Amino acid sequence: MTLLAGIEAGGTKFVCAIGDQHGKILEQVEFATESPDITIPKVIGFFQVQQKQFPFSAIGIASFGPVDPNPKSDTYGYITSTPKLLWQNFNFVGAIKKAFKLPIGFDTDANAAALGEYYWGHAKGLTDFIYLTVGTGIGGGAMVNGKLLHGAMHAEMGHILIPQDKVKDPFIGNCPFHKNCLEGLASGPAINKRWNLHSSSELPAEHLGWDIESDYLAYAMANYILTLSPQRIILGGGVMKQKQLLPIIQHKTKILLAGYINHTNVHEIEKTIVLAKLDQLAGLYGAIALADEALKTK
Ligand SMILES: [Zn+2]
Repeated sequence: MTLLAGIEAGGTKFVCAIGDQHGKILEQVEFATESPDITIPKVIGFFQVQQKQFPFSAIGIASFGPVDPNPKSDTYGYITSTPKLLWQNFNFVGAIKKAFKLPIGFDTDANAAALGEYYWGHAKGLTDFIYLTVGTGIGGGAMVNGKLLHGAMHAEMGHILIPQDKVKDPFIGNCPFHKNCLEGLASGPAINKRWNLHSSSELPAEHLGWDIESDYLAYAMANYILTLSPQRIILGGGVMKQKQLLPIIQHKTKILLAGYINHTNVHEIEKTIVLAKLDQLAGLYGAIALADEALKTK
């Protein structure tokens, strides 16, 4: 059996695990995200100990960003212009490679989560899909023609610009760059700020806030369907735990598309826009899947 190591590097914590190709996690640990000098030696130390019991063949890194995931670039494997200053220009792949002479997979946390759903979740067998997380931020990963989409940098699906009815929702938006982009209007912190809450889960299911939230997410769904033509869109993240949201998003997306796309994907929209299977674990599973990808392409 092939064993794989995965690192899910998040803004507040690092989750490290050993898993197998069937998606079974054998060992798992968490470290707080401090500085590279403190956190990375802990990560390396964990894997050095685990290696004796579980001789893994590759390592996958799913990192907070922005990162440089282009293998042809001079700064491949770096965390680049992150607001977390201690991590700016940190050569993540380089640091791990120095400790382990193994194939290393590296990508954004969003793309890794998409890959996790592809390996073990609701994107199994698909060639074209989107994974979108709606939580403290909004971010997406996409697979196009069977390959994770990178493009010139990384598709920032959370920052698309969408219509806002300022009579229904006068909230100015809280994206530091665009104010009322999708993330600025529909992330968890945007909901909290608009309604003066500590957590969006405080908002009752029938509250107008969810009607407004579903408007924005439906605009996003319609735009993604029109531009990338995905077979499926998988929604994860804390905000999507509100059970009433998904059916309204599906319904409104269909209305926004207005019969223009005559395809079963739209007719049966409830099979096209679905919730994530791996949920909070998508990033970690994605990191393990990235290790498997690295092994395949070494
Ligand atoms: Zn924005």
